Amino acid sequence: MISGRCAACKYLRRRCASDCIFSPYFPANNPQRFACVHKIYGASNVGKLLQQLPEDLRAKAAESMYYEAQCRIKDPVYGCVAIISLLHQQIHILESQLAKSRAELAVLMMPQPEESEIGHETSFNNFLLEQVGSVAHSGQYSIQDSSGFM
Ligand SMILES: [Zn+2]
Repeated sequence: MISGRCAACKYLRRRCASDCIFSPYFPANNPQRFACVHKIYGASNVGKLLQQLPEDLRAKAAESMYYEAQCRIKDPVYGCVAIISLLHQQIHILESQLAKSRAELAVLMMPQPEESEIGHETSFNNFLLEQVGSVAHSGQYSIQDSSGFM
């Protein structure tokens, strides 16, 4: 009988009833799990909380309480909120990096009208140069002509 007690009943030094609320979630082979939760929430609060929940949610609730209690013991001021806010910060940083990379990618993926404009500009410049050249030539001729005339 004594060897069949769950971790909670062992810890609380009481008989473990067949319908013990703790027994499925706090097995005897992990006494630390119950000690942790008891230290933070108190055994009766843990029992009440488990009792109020539908049976299919109790395992998750016990797991969550254990996790939160561990965090609270490690960090008495912030508990698991410290981890949550750290993760939120990381999410925020990564989201900004992602937005920046997406913006850079969008710029790189844009059809590049600038290049074709540059192409037009270049050919227009060449055209201008040709015109200037021919004007200069004709100017030269006219100067020669006029100098010849004078
Ligand atoms: Zn028990």
